Formats: sequence, structure tokens, C-alpha cells
Amino acid sequence: MQSYSDKINIVWLKRDIRSQDHEPLALVSAKETPFLVCYIFEPSLLKGHDSSLRHQRFVYQSLHDLENRLSAYNIPVNIFYGEAVDVIADLIKQFPALTMFSYQESGTQKTWNRDKAVIRLLKDSEAVWQQVQKNGVQRGINHRRTWDKNWYATMNTPVITNEYTHQPDLPLENNFPLPIDFIEKLSTSIPDFQPGGESYAWKYLQSFTQERGKSYHWQISKPRESRKSCSRLSPYLAWGNISIKQVLHYTKSHENFASNKLAFTGMMTRLKWHDHFIQKFEVECKYETHCVNQGYELLERTKNTEFIKAWEEGLTGFPLVDACMRCVKKTGWINFRMRAMVVSMLCHHFDQDWRHGVYHLARLFLDYEPGIHYPQFQMQAGTTGTNTVRIYNPIKQSQDHDPNGIFIKKWVPELRNVPKEFIHEPWRMSAMEEATYKVYIGKDYPKPIVDCKGAAKKARDKIWGHRKNLLVKKEQQRILATHIRPNRKQINIKPKSLK
Ligand SMILES: Cc1cc2nc3c(=O)[nH]c(=O)nc-3n(C[C@H](O)[C@H](O)[C@H](O)COP(=O)(O)OP(=O)(O)OC[C@H]3O[C@@H](n4cnc5c(N)ncnc54)[C@H](O)[C@@H]3O)c2cc1C
Repeated sequence: MQSYSDKINIVWLKRDIRSQDHEPLALVSAKETPFLVCYIFEPSLLKGHDSSLRHQRFVYQSLHDLENRLSAYNIPVNIFYGEAVDVIADLIKQFPALTMFSYQESGTQKTWNRDKAVIRLLKDSEAVWQQVQKNGVQRGINHRRTWDKNWYATMNTPVITNEYTHQPDLPLENNFPLPIDFIEKLSTSIPDFQPGGESYAWKYLQSFTQERGKSYHWQISKPRESRKSCSRLSPYLAWGNISIKQVLHYTKSHENFASNKLAFTGMMTRLKWHDHFIQKFEVECKYETHCVNQGYELLERTKNTEFIKAWEEGLTGFPLVDACMRCVKKTGWINFRMRAMVVSMLCHHFDQDWRHGVYHLARLFLDYEPGIHYPQFQMQAGTTGTNTVRIYNPIKQSQDHDPNGIFIKKWVPELRNVPKEFIHEPWRMSAMEEATYKVYIGKDYPKPIVDCKGAAKKARDKIWGHRKNLLVKKEQQRILATHIRPNRKQINIKPKSLK
């Protein structure tokens, strides 16, 4: 193997697959030193409980889009398949004087351990690794006293315009190519999923601000309408095809902002939540496997595999819950309220430990972002001890947000002939009505697996009763001190870069 003794820089892409507002790419492009852009598919992460082919395809599509954008400057995107330490060790052999740049990753314990292993590897070499802050998530803090102020300060800095110049060819040998069968799997595109890449991220943002977002605030909770009127930016933000700052600045300075202030500000507020949740996980990534409030480890639950299977397969007998579970399996997305409701059903009505469902949804959500997913899941499961526990009534949710059962009938076609007076509670049909509508509950579609009212009451007593536990109370103090902002502010973004 040839060794290239001159200095080179490497950008290690992680969840930041884009060409603009990209600080590591800006840092390397500003120097004379030639650079490589790399992405590593890591088999040990791909095998994780939280990983799925739909995520990997999205990443692959994003990398292709980036390749297209950078090809004009002779900048290839080098894609490796191997453990990061092995790939980086090989790069160090080829380029001993390398400096690596990346964004800080607020990931799971597995990615933290991998980053520590990379740091150990670099200690024994001349190579250096410089990591920069991602979005508004701040490393090394264990309270929120200055978090808001710093977040605004970051968001009010200009968006980076990345400029590229032609790069010399570097004599890179890719000793970790993608296996052919993996490429084949990644290359199949499934039309039900949002396609990955920076170009699509901008298309979604533009169509949201131009037209779709007008109804955002009043349709956000509706399972069918929200598919159009929500921004649908979550997968693009999760895999870094677009940055939080880009979305904020673009939206705030859009010509439609004034006429859609309520809707757009609602969306922008959630961009702050995005970082707020990831910040919790940055501080304590054990929330993937442990209750946020340790006191809830003492809550007794009995695993019921039949309930879990029925929930996963959309066969619980609760039409809206089943429609949501089938829809997310097919498309990778459901709106916030429906996510909250399906988690509430699993953990409250079916009385299951949140850990029995958290990976299932992580794999299904195309926008899986560990920093949001685990804290949000636990918030809905009631294991944070600091949030109001909401036990969603699936019948009321259905009546309120899908009154005519259009969403239900799309995803649960067994019920397509059921009229709207029974669509939310089909088990209430008489034998005669079942015969009229040609659907037999218990045969064509299941009876509810629990008694809704009784199960909700039991769950309420159980979860609220447990709040009195001494450990729960003690933990509440720690959680408030670490993760809660003392003063909250309205979104106040001045898009300086666009002035
Ligand atoms: C159990 C559960 C798990 C979730 N897991 C994820 C996840 O893995 N990845 C993820 O991005 N979101 C997750 N969410 C939050 C939320 O449901 C999605 O961000 C939202 O539905 C995405 O749709 P959108 O892009 O159209 O959002 P919009 O409403 O248009 O909001 C814009 C952006 O703000 C952020 N955002 C919106 N709502 C929230 C929220 N409640 N908390 C934090 N950030 C938010 C997202 O980045 C989103 O793209 C989860 C929610 C629940 C209840």
C-alpha cells in the first residue's frame, strides 16, 4: 500500500449528509490542503436493534445526491463498509498526516463507544480529529441555565455558504468497498417512503412554505391531513440533509411568513424542541435502555407477547391504532399525536414496558433520531416522572381526528364497508349490522384486546400512584436541574445571513 506523506484533511460524514451550511466541509475547503469526503456504513451499527434497511436506503440516496452536487468540483464521496476504527486505521496508513473533521454526534451508547475507540486509535498516531457543534446541541453542559441564550446565539449566526474549488485526485485505495448485495438492497427505491437527499429536503421545505404549511396548525393532529400540511422535514433533519438553521432562516424570511405567522412559528418552535430533546440525550444516552426517572424501574409489568405482537401488526381491535401501526410500517411516518397515542396504548392500556416497543418504532420511523425518539417515547410512556402523563383514549382520538374514518379505512381495509357511526368502535355492531356490512368482528377484524375504559383506569391509578415513590421524587429533582430550562422564550430568529 502506498503512503502519502503530505498533509490531508478528511471530512467524516455522519448524520450530516449535505453540501451547504456544513461547517466541517467549510473548514477543509478554506485550506489549501487537499481533502477527502468519507461516509462509513458500519456493520455493527447496521445490525443494531434500532437500524433498518429503510434508514440505510435513505442514507444511500442522500450520499448519491451529495455526490452529484460535489462531482462538478472533482470531489468524490468515498463510501466505506467496515467498522469505523478499521476504516480510519487504514486511512491513517495511507495518509499518516491526516486531520479529520466531523460534527459531534449525540448518538446511542454504541456510537459513543465507537467515537471513544476512534479517539484511542488517533492517540497512537499523528492524526488529529476536530469535532464541531451540531445544530444547537451543546457538549459538556449538565444544566440548562444558559442553554436558550446559546441556542439563539447559534441560530442567529449566518448560514454557511459552502464554496468549493476543484480538488486534486488523491491516491486513495478503498479497502472497504460496499458489498454488491448490500448495494443492490440499497438501490431499490420504494415509492411509499420519502426519498433521501438535500435536493428533496429543499423541495419539502419550499412546498411547505409555499403552500402546504398554511393549514399546519389546525391539521397537525389529524392523521390524514397532517401528511400534507406538516413540514415532513423530519427525515431530512435526522440524517442532516438540511440543518435546523437553514430551515429557521429560510422560513423566517419567506414571503409567506407574515400571512402564515401562526403556522410557521408553530413549526419553528418545534425545531427548537428538536435540539431540546437531543440535548437531553447528549447528556444521558442511557435513556435508550434505562428509565429517564430511575424510580420507574420499580414499576411492575408483565410481558404479554400477544399484546405486543397485536400492536406491532396493527391487530389490536382499535381501528385508529391499527391504522397508524400499518401506515407507519408502509410509509415510515405518522404525525406526533398518533405516535404519542400508539405508545400510550402499548404502555398504558396494554401495560407493557416501553422497552418492548421502542426499537420496533425506531426501525419503522424513517426519521429515527435517537435523541428525540427515546426521550419522547419515555415521555409518552410516563417514565420521566416530570411530565404530565397523557393516557390517550383511542376512541376519542379517532372521533376527533378521523371523524369519517377515511384514514382508518385506507389502512384497515377490512373495515371499508363499516359506516361512520361504527368505524371508531366496530365491536358495537349487532350481528345483523355485521351481516349488512359484511364484516364480522372477531373473524375479519379482531375484537379489542383489552377493555378500553377499564384498562385506562387501571393504568392511570398505576402510573400516578407510582409518582409517590420516594425514588421517583428524588429523581425528579435531578431531572429538573439537568434538563429543564428555567426561562422559556418565544422563537426569536433574525436571519442575518439573508439580510
Ligand atoms: C414516541 C415518539 C417518537 C418520536 N420519534 C421521533 C424521531 O425518532 N425523530 C424525529 O424527528 N421525531 C420524532 N418524534 C417527534 C415528532 O413526532 C416528529 O418530529 C414529527 O412528527 C415529524 O414530522 P414533521 O417533520 O412534519 O414535523 P413538523 O411538525 O413539521 O416539525 C418540524 C420539525 O420539528 C421537529 N419536531 C417536531 N415535533 C417534535 C417533537 N415533538 N419533539 C422534538 N422535535 C420535534 C422535527 O425535527 C420536525 O421535523 C417522536 C414523537 C413521539 C411521540
